[in-house]
Amino acid sequence: MSAMLLNKEKWPEFIGKLTGKNLWAPKLEGEAMRFAPVAEDEVPELTDGNTRIPPKNIVFPQTETMYRFQLGDFEMKEPELKEEMILLGIRPCDARAMVIVDKLFSWDVDDPYYLKRRELVTLVGLACSEPGLNCFCTSLGGGPASTEGLDLLMVDLGDSYLLETITPKGEALVSEVSELLIEADTEKIKMKKKMVSESEGKIKRSVDHKGIPEGLPGLWEDPLWKSVSASCLGCGTCTYLCPTCHCFDIQDETEGFEARRCRMWDSCMFEEYTLHTSGHNPRPTRRERTRNRINHKYNYYVDKFDVIACVGCGRCINLCPVNIDIVEILRQVKEAL
Ligand code: SF4
Ligand code: SF4
Repeated sequence: MSAMLLNKEKWPEFIGKLTGKNLWAPKLEGEAMRFAPVAEDEVPELTDGNTRIPPKNIVFPQTETMYRFQLGDFEMKEPELKEEMILLGIRPCDARAMVIVDKLFSWDVDDPYYLKRRELVTLVGLACSEPGLNCFCTSLGGGPASTEGLDLLMVDLGDSYLLETITPKGEALVSEVSELLIEADTEKIKMKKKMVSESEGKIKRSVDHKGIPEGLPGLWEDPLWKSVSASCLGCGTCTYLCPTCHCFDIQDETEGFEARRCRMWDSCMFEEYTLHTSGHNPRPTRRERTRNRINHKYNYYVDKFDVIACVGCGRCINLCPVNIDIVEILRQVKEAL
């Protein structure tokens, strides 16, 4: 790992060197911050907090064509995924979320669409100096400057960015802009440590998850599920905007003699998600669906992949229209154990 310094005066030049390389950065589109391509004459400023739409859609698009086929002479055409891209300013929790989702898409069968996109993307992280009110990443093994999943980490030191390379991809990117960088001295490294520890101190929410994965099955019929889900609207926001949620549906669409098979995000908070053709639904009310959402993240995923499928980004709390709060649900779970 190397630590280099980029003076902010050189930021436009730094961006200029990367824009021809399919550079994406956070951008306000309509009312929502999301990752979007950086145009040639654009210089993104990384001044806001985390994006509302998590960057999971870069590697796992909301809707994607898996392949096209023609009726008659059966011919399948798979999309070619080959364009490399750089995601600039991804927050450590969202990069960590990709590592967690990787486990699912490379589990029993390798998912070629997801894994190819993961291979093509370089993740340039930005450490958080001002965590959000509902961030609780430090409870779950992450942190404002966690490097898990990142290729390169940028830390804002006021008049400069400290650039820490994590992987060979990060090193390759740094070598392309090396004439703009100088080596970071010990004073800058100390500044980074101070900034990270101050940032950690600003995180006020936490989850004590010890015992929760093992304890959840015993709470299957606990009344808490009814009370915590009473106001849920079943809108699916908490799952659509969660960087670790990964459920999808697959549908075929026909256009004359041509057709395409596509997959699109789905949500376990929707009633139809588990509706059987017979009309039976094993999760008929929001009580069962909320119970499933928490069990999936804090029990089933731990059982299967040995990691909690939540990174504490706080999106589901910030964006739930009726203020359902996963930290509060987990506090009640803990209390009930
Ligand atoms: S965002 Fe809130 S209201 Fe919507 S499904 Fe999730 S918990 Fe229910
Ligand atoms: S469950 Fe909520 S806090 Fe956890 S990763 Fe998903 S959106 Fe973030």
